[in-house]
Amino acid sequence: MARVESKVAEAKTTTKTTAKSETTTERATHRGARADYRWDGVEERPYKEDDRALFKSITRQVLFSDPELHGELRYFEVAAGGFSTLERHQHMHAVLILRGRGHCLIGGEIKSLETRDLVTVPPLTWHQFRASKGEPLGFLCMVNALRDKPQLPSQEDLARLTADPAVAEFLDGSPHGA
Ligand code: MN
Repeated sequence: MARVESKVAEAKTTTKTTAKSETTTERATHRGARADYRWDGVEERPYKEDDRALFKSITRQVLFSDPELHGELRYFEVAAGGFSTLERHQHMHAVLILRGRGHCLIGGEIKSLETRDLVTVPPLTWHQFRASKGEPLGFLCMVNALRDKPQLPSQEDLARLTADPAVAEFLDGSPHGA
């Protein structure tokens, strides 16, 4: 470790570095996987700080976030029977299901989710992820580093969405996820 640091110090004196690259000394080049979908040096965080949003039993880990990257990769885990916030925003989500199964709502459509499925959430599209009742649903989610704040549905939005009985059933948590 000390050897790596002295190498970095040496590089700084001999090459011209930008202000940006000076801030990257804490960048980890490798993080080992731990048991149960955790990673070395990655903090498990609350899903959201916004308490207006309705959600249940989710954890969030930020796997990649760096001033040099335009995107971030996070790992979310929804406990069995849990669900993410019903929301929409301008930024997109690119999702890979890493563990378990469940269902998601994308716009007006409900999709069944299996491990390793890919899900694209387009801009300004209502979405929610629900874990099956039997096991956690874990997924990788790629987003822009700079992104807008999620919008929550108004009563009108909810009325429009639940006009479709299948969507109403999904939002009630049944019978999907059984
Ligand atoms: Mn979202």
